[in-house]
Amino acid sequence: MPSFNCPVPNLRLHIDGDALARNWQRLNMLSGTASAGAAIKANAYGLGINSVAPILKEQGVRNYFVTHWCEAASLLRYVAANDISVLHGPQTSEEAQYAKSQGLRPVINSLSQAAIWLRAGGGVCDLMVDTGINRLGLDMSEIHDPILQKLDINLVLSHLACADEDHPLNAVQLDRARTAFRAINSVGKSLSSSAGIALGEPYHFDITRPGLALYGGIPRAEFEGVIEQVATPQAMVIMTRQVAQGATIGYNATFTAPRPMRVAIVSLGYADGFLRAWAGKAKFRYGGIDLPVLGKISMDMTVVDCSAAPDVAEGDWVSLPYNLAAASAATGLSQYELLTVLGERFNSR
Ligand SMILES: *Cc1c(COP(=O)(O)O)cnc(C)c1O
Repeated sequence: MPSFNCPVPNLRLHIDGDALARNWQRLNMLSGTASAGAAIKANAYGLGINSVAPILKEQGVRNYFVTHWCEAASLLRYVAANDISVLHGPQTSEEAQYAKSQGLRPVINSLSQAAIWLRAGGGVCDLMVDTGINRLGLDMSEIHDPILQKLDINLVLSHLACADEDHPLNAVQLDRARTAFRAINSVGKSLSSSAGIALGEPYHFDITRPGLALYGGIPRAEFEGVIEQVATPQAMVIMTRQVAQGATIGYNATFTAPRPMRVAIVSLGYADGFLRAWAGKAKFRYGGIDLPVLGKISMDMTVVDCSAAPDVAEGDWVSLPYNLAAASAATGLSQYELLTVLGERFNSR
């Protein structure tokens, strides 16, 4: 009996592992004397932890950042527990116990998380300080709290709100980070994610935490020509058909064929993360030929014009060009959204 498990066989996310490795090497170089870690949360930004983690591990990456405890669990297959930081920290004593049992590092984000961690017996952790994004992290007014003396802190972290712009808050946050880093005893300090690396040496400290740029995103102009595309969605043609002049295609009949057309039905839709913002903008590629999307994108499929590629047939694979900066400009989706929406139906390889 054949098996019919997901991920579905007619969708795949092509991962250029060499480009990923080079992106990490370049970000590590650009981090100067700091070492680049890797933000690998949200299933490696949608690329798939199973394809990304072994490549980063082979590059010698030592600091991995995930958001949730379940994400740490899947990363543990590839990476040593004491190289993994869990950004949302321990919200319950069960999570703290899990961290201790596995040897994972929670990122302590508040005095109450510090208390949860210490009640569970404590141990090596990281500590997030909020220097101006007003999201997770200790308030600057809490950096002298005596409970911090009881923590065994590996990294003190903070996170920039506007590193992808030249914004006055960057320097303000740098200044506050220096104050916090002076006040708190730790093995290392870390402020910058991808964009912050491009802000220069004062922002680097000991460890940088790139995510987006590892996976091909260009958050700042400094990365143009430096960072390479890593992920390319590919989908199978389910059928082709001939459409008469004047016939309409797809929901709400938004496209009318100006001439007889040969079209292909591609097995990729918005449920896979190919959002409707792409309608009228995307062109799939077959060999070197463009196949423009016609009409609205459906949940599980998209119709493309293959008049220019008459040999496209059922079972052929087509690619979606996925240059993140260009795709973001075309669709209005952020580069982060473009990656993380790629659904679980994809089979990364
Ligand atoms: C997601 C995240 C990163 C990585 O950010 P990029 O902009 O993707 O490089 C770094 N640090 C923290 C705390 C994060 O949440």
